[in-house]
Amino acid sequence: MSEPSVNEIILAEPRGFCAGVDRAIEIVERAIAKFGAPIYVRHEIVHNTYVVNELKAKGAIFIEDLADVPPGSTLIFSAHGVSKAVEAEAQARGFDVFDATCPLVTKVHVEVAKLAKEGYEFIMIGHKGHPEVEGTMGQLTHGIHLVEDVADVAKVQPGQTEKLAVVTQTTLSVDDAAEIAAAVRARFPKVREPKQQDICYATQNRQDAVKIMSPQVDIVIVVGSPTSSNSNRLRELAQRLGTESYMVDSADELQPEWFEGKTRVGLTAGASAPEVLVREVIDRVKALGAVSVRKMDGIEETIKFPLPKGLKLEDRPAPGHIS
Ligand code: SF4
Repeated sequence: MSEPSVNEIILAEPRGFCAGVDRAIEIVERAIAKFGAPIYVRHEIVHNTYVVNELKAKGAIFIEDLADVPPGSTLIFSAHGVSKAVEAEAQARGFDVFDATCPLVTKVHVEVAKLAKEGYEFIMIGHKGHPEVEGTMGQLTHGIHLVEDVADVAKVQPGQTEKLAVVTQTTLSVDDAAEIAAAVRARFPKVREPKQQDICYATQNRQDAVKIMSPQVDIVIVVGSPTSSNSNRLRELAQRLGTESYMVDSADELQPEWFEGKTRVGLTAGASAPEVLVREVIDRVKALGAVSVRKMDGIEETIKFPLPKGLKLEDRPAPGHIS
């Protein structure tokens, strides 16, 4: 086995937490501080093992089925959003609900509801089984059809083609989504597309940074959990650009042999991965010989989303509310 030869770490910019993830975590922390543990959260608040474990330690209980939440509890919807059916069930069970759905996902929900009233059917580009896709598709009881790839576009059977609109999951590969949208356009030339695409700024910016970084490095490490859509897309993108790439949930998963014969290591993190994990990866790679850490130039993100009402210490909501 040859000795690892790592010399430099290049940090992608931007990387890590986005505004939607910051807000979702803050909602859980504030709810625990204000109402006391336990606070119930439907689904992982964001798709990151470290974040979820930290919040569990503070008193959050993560559930999938609302039947597992005791009456009178405070319940938080995860950043990925929920269907109308889940929202209605939470209300019927009388929980105090705080909605940590990312406002950029809510924007897609609002668009779907508005166009559905005008008689539109939808083609949703996304990954089957992802909670965001379930939430967005669940804004309607019918008339929304999922396509995961170009092959699905040939098979989809909308009830009519005069009023058809495209929506996408917010965390897709920008390039894949564009290719699938082009196939939809080719088959349904009258299709309505969003004015601004649904893929969010954070997903776009992190993918753009990987596109710039990949050719400059010998290996790309993405910090992110296996369930994180946007993190997986970063790893795939680097690999597609011809750079060996691995995704790790923590520094413990790094394998020294990955770095054999590699001089420059590119490092990024998905939108749900905290910077503390990036720091731990840096320390581990430094132990393999890296002497310098260089931050790439990149877009500075300043977006912040407001918190829902009812999380300031002075205003306690009435039972059964949704904010
Ligand atoms: S990745 Fe995008 S859509 Fe998801 S929480 Fe972050 S900003 Fe919102």
